[in-house]
Amino acid sequence: MLDDERRRVVECAPALSDLTPGRTGNLSVRSDDRFAVTPTGVPYDGFDASDVPVVRVEDGEHLAGGMAPSSEVPMHAAIYRREDVGAIVHTHSPWATTMAVRRQELPPIHYMIVAVGKRVPVAEYAPYGTDELAANVVEAMTEAESTACFIENHGLVVTAPNLDTAIEDAIHVESLSRIYLQSLAGGEPTTLSDEQLETVIERFESYGQ
Ligand code: 13P
Ligand code: ZN
Repeated sequence: MLDDERRRVVECAPALSDLTPGRTGNLSVRSDDRFAVTPTGVPYDGFDASDVPVVRVEDGEHLAGGMAPSSEVPMHAAIYRREDVGAIVHTHSPWATTMAVRRQELPPIHYMIVAVGKRVPVAEYAPYGTDELAANVVEAMTEAESTACFIENHGLVVTAPNLDTAIEDAIHVESLSRIYLQSLAGGEPTTLSDEQLETVIERFESYGQ
């Protein structure tokens, strides 16, 4: 069941461990009404594809895989029920988490913010692994029309069409958070206007090979 998606979870786990300390964070890949997700509380080099849990989007039920799924299944399932996305990455990466503990949204200080939207909002704190946290994350992303959000005093969540893009976008938000926080040393930084951001969004449609 979901063999390709479970292999992708194992292949991408090292990229996650580069971003987030220890066993913190999690990631998932969706296929229709199910998703493959990292196991709970296991180091990122500590499991193989047969261990990777498969979970049902509708109710978070554990369908396959030798290990118990991430404690954040309610958040992953709630996002998949609400958004047409293919992958989710959650980290406690240090610069994004600094934004989260400051309860500070990320304004458009650099054009690369359009990878996730025009700003990165902050979702209200609730204990990890709860339906309440899941609802707060969905609400923050929907309201801000962003594919990323910080979680108060916790970390970062990013969604994307696929896992490579979700990881790349988590790295962008981590980098932009760092730039924003460093820039505060000289006072409040400048930001791009809505019109300038719209121009970047247009140019991105033909960016790359
Ligand atoms: P899991 O190991 O259960 O995925 O939890 C890590 C985490 O970051 C909870 O928010
Ligand atoms: Zn977490």
